[in-house]
Amino acid sequence: MQLLKDRIRKDGIVREGGVLKVDSFLNHQMDIELFEKIGKEFRRRFEGEEINKILTIEASGIGIACIVAQYFHVPVVFAKKTKTKNIAGDVYTSRVESYTHGRVYDIIVSKDFLGPEDKVLLIDDFLANGKALEGLAQLVQDAGATLVGAGIVIEKGFQRGGDVIREKGIHLESLAIVESMDPTTGEVVFREN
Ligand code: 5GP
Repeated sequence: MQLLKDRIRKDGIVREGGVLKVDSFLNHQMDIELFEKIGKEFRRRFEGEEINKILTIEASGIGIACIVAQYFHVPVVFAKKTKTKNIAGDVYTSRVESYTHGRVYDIIVSKDFLGPEDKVLLIDDFLANGKALEGLAQLVQDAGATLVGAGIVIEKGFQRGGDVIREKGIHLESLAIVESMDPTTGEVVFREN
């Protein structure tokens, strides 16, 4: 998605350790006009697929997922992150190792909002090592729901997540794939489609 790549080049900040900051338009301040275009693009890429629910993970996935959902006319469910070991209630749970925060946490979704009748599209802002998507996919599997695919705004192609998810046979659509980035010059190189 050229518009997104241009925006990353213009406003993205490359940090040490392979971290890309896109706080000014994606996951702190949010450019809703851009989100609308992202929503339309995911709609186009998953054209013809039967989807009745979007699943994301708090916090930065939520805003994106909500705008995307307007183009699919389906509800959004977000997995909650919890540090509590003994989770009360009827929930599906899975473990996720956080790339940016360097710790492990549990994610939960209520059994009321995910079940065998659901055809689920996963949405998230970043794909790095794939742990967040794997955790979400696990929840979908545990619920007996169908995983239709995953839509990612920015995939970091120099980390292994994309390969891991594609090798599992999951239909993955990433709107921008960063091949490399240089914290000294700020240069970002994208994978050609
Ligand atoms: P993964 O589980 O694929 O390793 O990492 C995905 C999650 O980590 C995303 O939900 C995202 O919030 C966060 N993340 C990973 N890499 C980056 C990055 O370079 N920049 C930002 N802003 N978030 C990242």
